[in-house]
Amino acid sequence: MGLETSLPAETPEIPAVTRVPAFEDNYFWLVHGLGGAARRVAVVDPGHAAPVIAALDAGGLTLDTILVTHHHADHIGGVAPLVERYRVPVYGPATEAIPLRTTALREGDIVALGALGLSFRVYDVPGHTAGHIAYYGHGALFCGDTLFSGGCGRLFEGTPAQMLRSLDKLAALPPETRVYCAHEYTAANLRFAGAVEPDNTALQQYLARVAALRAGNEATIPSTIGLELCVNPFLRTRQPAVRDAASQRSGGVLADDAGVFAVIREWKNGFRG
Ligand code: ZN
Ligand code: FE
Repeated sequence: MGLETSLPAETPEIPAVTRVPAFEDNYFWLVHGLGGAARRVAVVDPGHAAPVIAALDAGGLTLDTILVTHHHADHIGGVAPLVERYRVPVYGPATEAIPLRTTALREGDIVALGALGLSFRVYDVPGHTAGHIAYYGHGALFCGDTLFSGGCGRLFEGTPAQMLRSLDKLAALPPETRVYCAHEYTAANLRFAGAVEPDNTALQQYLARVAALRAGNEATIPSTIGLELCVNPFLRTRQPAVRDAASQRSGGVLADDAGVFAVIREWKNGFRG
């Protein structure tokens, strides 16, 4: 008898993800198929077609699908020209106006991209916009403008309580989850985070790492959920240091978690670090 090995029946594969920088500080993400489908990609939040087309051409890639998180122009501006050129399906939130959307998504839906060997679970994450969704699968989270590294999206269409619930969902994902957000806001976010939690050593270490990356014009994204739990004040509203900073800021005791969140979010809106 030969030796038995105990490898799992199937080893989970992690898809490659290509970063496409655009505008001032946006990232569009190309998610590559697994195995033999590595040259087929889905694009997340293509706010502009030209850089996506250039990245596809440069990599010899085929566009398979468009995934959209919310309706803002810097996330959908490239959808119509890309569909016209490549005739691909468009997935997007059910309750927002997404151009040429072919599949409307809501909480709990599974996006199965057969040609890529990928599937993603959909989360409703209202707050930045009312219908904002996020895509999670294969250890990766595509969260648009909901969770940023060191920060979160502005509340254009939602309440602090809604956004806190949305961020709580994302915070509950496995700590090793890679966080692919849509903007390079990390350095500015961390300056604010440092004002909220001056004694957070994990934050200080991350700030130094981010400063070095940005000095070399390198990206800080993806982050991970585990890192964000240590440094992001919007995921830390139950931490005593964050609660204390918020109640000092507001000049009174804050009733609940959403109240703390609201004060931190307002504080950030006016912050010039
Ligand atoms: Zn947005
Ligand atoms: Fe945006």
